[in-house]
Formats: sequence, C-alpha cells, structure tokens
Amino acid sequence: ELSKRLETVGRFVPEAARLADIGSDHAYLPVALMLKGKIDFAVAGEVVKGPFESAKRQVMKNGLSERIEVRLANGLDAIEKHDQISAITIAGMGGSLIRDILEAGRQNQRLSGEERLILQPNIGEKTLRTWLKENNYQIIAEEIIEENKKIYEIIVAEKKEQPIDYSEKELMFGPFLLEDKNATFSAKWQRELKQREVILEQLKNASEQNRYETIQQEVEWIKEVL
Ligand code: SAM
Repeated sequence: ELSKRLETVGRFVPEAARLADIGSDHAYLPVALMLKGKIDFAVAGEVVKGPFESAKRQVMKNGLSERIEVRLANGLDAIEKHDQISAITIAGMGGSLIRDILEAGRQNQRLSGEERLILQPNIGEKTLRTWLKENNYQIIAEEIIEENKKIYEIIVAEKKEQPIDYSEKELMFGPFLLEDKNATFSAKWQRELKQREVILEQLKNASEQNRYETIQQEVEWIKEVL
C-alpha cells in the first residue's frame, strides 16, 4: 500500500509510461505502479548505496527485475537515451535539490524535454516553480494534500513552446492551488503566516532590512489569499 503522498504522485504518471523515479529509496512507487499495470518500464535511480540495495531487493521480491531497472546514479544520470523515458518522478526531497537535479540533467542532456515531470518537494516549492518557468515548463496540474499532519504539494509540468509568464504570487502559491484555495491550502498558509510573523518580530531590531521587506511582502500576499 502506497502512502497517500506517493499515491497522489502516481496518479499523475500517464498510462503505459516509461518512468524514471529519481531518489527512489525502496522503489515503492515504480513497484506499485508496475503491479497495477499502469506503467510499461521503469528506472529506479538512487545515489546512496543503502537505499539502492533496498530498491533492488524490493524489485526482486516482486519479480519485476525484467521491467524495473535499479541504477546507482546521481540524479538524472540514471537515465539513458535508449530508455525512452516519458515521465520522471522526483519526490520527498527539498525543492532546491529537485531543482539542482533537473538543472544538472538539462545541462548534461539527460532531459529530452519530452518527459512529463511529477515533482513533490517537501519545501522550496517556489524555487522549483521558478526553475520550471525559466525553462519553459508549463504547470499542468497541482495538488496539495495532508498526511500524518504534514502538508505536501505535488507539481506536474510539461515543456511547451509557449511558456506561461507566471507571476511572483503564482510561483509562491502555485497557479492551480491559488485558483482552488481548498482547506489544506488554507491550513498550510495559516501556518506559514504564523511562522513569518514570528520571524518579523525577531527581525524588527536587526539590521536585515532586505530580509524584513521580503518577508513582509510575503505576509501581505498570504493575508490577501487567505
Ligand atoms: N522518493 C521516495 C519517496 O518520496 O518516498 C524517497 C524519498 S527519500 C526521503 C529521498 C531519497 O533521495 C533518498 O533515498 C536519497 O538517497 C535520494 N537522493 C538524494 N539525492 C539524490 C540524487 N542526487 N540522486 C538520486 N537520489 C538522490
């Protein structure tokens, strides 16, 4: 049984996809999607030996070694051209790490631009959306969910000829999440607002004028959207 978080990530993987799951840990996601018959082939990439071994065991145990290749590699280096990957999932890491993985993959041409990206950053969503915008990806769907008192965002993106000029506000809150403003979204931004108010209080007498103004601007936006 997948966690709600990984189940939501999996829902955005297209039918019959050739999937690369980067930072796969136990390979739970590709194994579950393969067992459901949703995907045709998968690469499970891991950079750390321990999780790499767990992923191999999980794939073996389920008799899927023919269809899920577990590779010890840094980021998108796990992907080879002949894999013909059509979807990439990167989940459970910080947004700036996901951004760095995508940027390195772009630079060394592991990203063809044909793949759908399904990303689940734990924090740093704005950093990630900013990279997507700068690289002509269009956000095609977003979800915000709560599980075990933690709130997660899932961002789905595809590269387009005609990119969208997302505003700073859309990059911060997420264009679809901002449209929807569901209860989980409100809960997240109530929390974020409280945190920022504490920081502002602490910064009041410090000489970090720029930081103060940035956070103050964010606080104003949060109040606007709530
Ligand atoms: N994706 C799974 C999930 O969402 O449940 C596992 C998340 S786990 C918290 C993050 C995993 O990413 C770790 O197993 C870590 O070794 C791996 N990782 C971190 N940086 C990586 C990189 N540059 N390339 C591949 N894997 C990486």
